[in-house]
Amino acid sequence: MRLSQFHLHTTKETPADAEIISHKLMLKAGMIRKLAAGLYTWSPLGLRVLRKVERAVREEMDAAGAIELLMPTIQPQELWEETGRWEKFGGQLLKIKDRKEAGYCYGPTAEEVITDFARSELSSYKQLPVNFYNIQTKFRDEIRPRFGVMRAREFLMKDAYSFHISEECLGREYQNMYDAYGRVFTRLGLKFRAVFADTGAIGGNASHEFHVLADSGEDAIAFSTGSDYAANVELAEAVAPGPRPAASEAMRKVDTPTQKTCEDVAALLGIGLERTAKSVAIMGADAEGNPQFVLALVRGDHVVNEIKLAKLAGLGDYRLATEAEIVEHLGAQPGFLGPVNAVRPIRVVADRSVAAMADFVVGANENGFHLAGVNWGRDLPEPEVADIRNVVEGDPSPDGHGTLGIARGIEVGHVFQLGRRYAEAMKCTVLDETGKAAVPLMGCYGIGVSRIVAAAIEQNHDDNGICWPEAMAPWQAAVCVINPKKDAAVAEAAEALYRELNAAGIETVLDDRGLRPGAMFADMELIGVPHRVVVSERVVAAGSFEYRHRRASEAENLDRAGLRIKLG
Ligand code: ATP
Ligand code: MG
Ligand code: MG
Ligand code: MG
Repeated sequence: MRLSQFHLHTTKETPADAEIISHKLMLKAGMIRKLAAGLYTWSPLGLRVLRKVERAVREEMDAAGAIELLMPTIQPQELWEETGRWEKFGGQLLKIKDRKEAGYCYGPTAEEVITDFARSELSSYKQLPVNFYNIQTKFRDEIRPRFGVMRAREFLMKDAYSFHISEECLGREYQNMYDAYGRVFTRLGLKFRAVFADTGAIGGNASHEFHVLADSGEDAIAFSTGSDYAANVELAEAVAPGPRPAASEAMRKVDTPTQKTCEDVAALLGIGLERTAKSVAIMGADAEGNPQFVLALVRGDHVVNEIKLAKLAGLGDYRLATEAEIVEHLGAQPGFLGPVNAVRPIRVVADRSVAAMADFVVGANENGFHLAGVNWGRDLPEPEVADIRNVVEGDPSPDGHGTLGIARGIEVGHVFQLGRRYAEAMKCTVLDETGKAAVPLMGCYGIGVSRIVAAAIEQNHDDNGICWPEAMAPWQAAVCVINPKKDAAVAEAAEALYRELNAAGIETVLDDRGLRPGAMFADMELIGVPHRVVVSERVVAAGSFEYRHRRASEAENLDRAGLRIKLG
């Protein structure tokens, strides 16, 4: 690429409305331009980087055995009604109507679409396991789009969905994807950490997030200094202001302090903690005979004592509910926790153990209080005020090794074991070995392709601009030619080097814009090209090249052979 024929548009001024460094640098370098809140145009420069990330993701997914397809961005309402998510997904779902008044949404994720594809394409266990992925634009109507493409409304995601006959098989693919994600982020040159995570609105059982470590990250990660333990302590946040219905005395006590451990909450509510292997939900009827649910869900193996919970919720006869019953119940009565502004999420860490971190919502409605796990398909509005953290730096570690540290992270990937909930809701079955119809288990695996670009800058920059990791750089090398119009030999030497490097597979840009050296170097530093080679009258006369790595403090003079060694 010759810069004289490219569109590079950098600016000196630091944009006033950008809060974090990646947003500032992406605007200064002219990688993105804002169209409207959370909507960005990727300039030719920005797109080169985005495509690098996309390529790394695609190659690692292919190598891991996933199969690429492409699903539409617009998805029909009926599919979302089948899973109950048309109502439950909440405000992030952008709903649209066509000219016939038929309902659609702009896809924020694609479980429904892929399950629809699977139920028509898959008929036998022999076709399983299979893992389909696509790299497609998503839209989420984020409450607070910010930080440029970091939290955009329209963004590029790689999403993969696998189908299995058995739990073991799902577990194997989950591990396979977990490993592939590690390869993607390593290859992109990022410092990252995989952590235990909340399964959020997508729902499911096992879940890990991949975080790029950066101080500007919106998530807090608790990690052990002595082992591999790490978990997301997502900042639980207070919900939108509004009138709250009267809460019980116990509720009011829970409501005020913001830092709580499981024990604290349990003590305030007068309930005990009990260890059990599975998450439970309790179904019963209240004094008026209305069906009521209490969900006592935890990650790890702690669960709030369901007998006391049932009593507190005023349930008479009760029993453990099945997952299907709960899903159906939530679908039928999405407001079962009462008005949204009556619910305050409280982040709870059982035993201060990140391994057993539980996300509870304690809410009050006119029937009393409810305790619910957020990770059971409940959609809470994206909260406003960041403030609640439960684990404290320096606490002993959960597995007996080291102490707890807290780091900030940017979520760039997320893997889930979904189980059967989508396939079941959408009546997707395959024939198993015995010829019987079986509902397949699913896994889903997302990577924030466009977010990675911003996250990488958070980790790789200095006062002069971006310092791209090799794999993400728009070009590996820049040949900067000084005064090409004045000296034909200089122009020729630069041109020859430019051709030679590209022919050798080193993506090289020729800065032939004829700018002053200072302006040219400042641009190359701002846009973060890893290797810079200067061709000037002086170096041509000396038969050498002036070379500088983006992270080096000094330039050095090298002959052709020395230069080629540097460029790899
Ligand atoms: P977050 O917690 O940041 O809101 P999420 O958990 O809602 O993300 P997932 O549903 O797990 O996101 O989607 C998979 C990936 O898509 C995320 O790990 C993230 O990298 C990316 N992503 C999600 N929301 C956005 C967004 N608004 N802008 C850019 N990337 C996003
Ligand atoms: Mg989100
Ligand atoms: Mg998240
Ligand atoms: Mg996530």
